[in-house]
Amino acid sequence: MAATTQIDVQFIQTGRIKIRPSMLSQPANRSIFLRRLRFLTDRSWTDWLPVYTFLISHPEGPILFDAGMSPRCTSPGYFPFWMPTFTLTSQIEIQPQEGIGAQLKEKGIEIKALKAVVLSHLRHDHSGGLEDLVGAPVYLMEEHWEAFKHPLHATMEGAVPSQWPKNFSPQFLQPTGPPIGPFEKSYPITSDGKVVAVQTPGHVPGHLSVIVYGDETTWFLTGDATYSQELLDREETDGVNDDPVQAVQSLRLIKELARQTPLVVLAAHDTDELRRKEEGEVYKPSRL
Ligand SMILES: [Zn+2]
Repeated sequence: MAATTQIDVQFIQTGRIKIRPSMLSQPANRSIFLRRLRFLTDRSWTDWLPVYTFLISHPEGPILFDAGMSPRCTSPGYFPFWMPTFTLTSQIEIQPQEGIGAQLKEKGIEIKALKAVVLSHLRHDHSGGLEDLVGAPVYLMEEHWEAFKHPLHATMEGAVPSQWPKNFSPQFLQPTGPPIGPFEKSYPITSDGKVVAVQTPGHVPGHLSVIVYGDETTWFLTGDATYSQELLDREETDGVNDDPVQAVQSLRLIKELARQTPLVVLAAHDTDELRRKEEGEVYKPSRL
């Protein structure tokens, strides 16, 4: 008898990154200019933060949420020389075997077997692995593509279009699902609606998060809507976005959903994620 695939979520870590503490969090009411000036002049570093992608098992086929960093991104010439902020504002460690392609191979998952690669957004630590995923359908939000499709602008915003696969043309998720709690629109990824995206803009325009309805657990995979559960709970947005008010609004929607539905919340760079996932820790949002 064939084993039935359970709906489950696994971490795949693609290296680690240090950034400036002022990139992790800054007051939302500080002006965009001052927010950017603050992180460009910040000389301290955070601890190493993981760069997670999430592999979702589903009867329709495995789904990858985010592609992670490229192992080539520590080689000279990967980042455009004219955009020094990549190297000035982050330190990166990633081994060749930590790339998403190598890790999927290790798990015996063929690229063409992937039902979908869903990207929260196109910054390099979420899309660098696209080079290994050619042949799999890639989905994101149309609003995000509109904002990032011009290479010059995308590069200034932290993506590296010069490293995207040739003729990269993502597909757009469609809002054909029902409202989910406070989220008015939902974007199903599987036909049973058990893996579904919602919009969490603010970090970048058209940023998306993924909800996975497992048999016992509901996971909310934030992408970079927040960098950690603590920051989410304090409704503190990151210091790099250009729409902090919208970013805070997205955090409030996640908290509101967590009040209505027990959720295990997993972010892309939270150092405490493995424990949370292991213990199935349900997020209890506080009221500010
Ligand atoms: Zn990120």
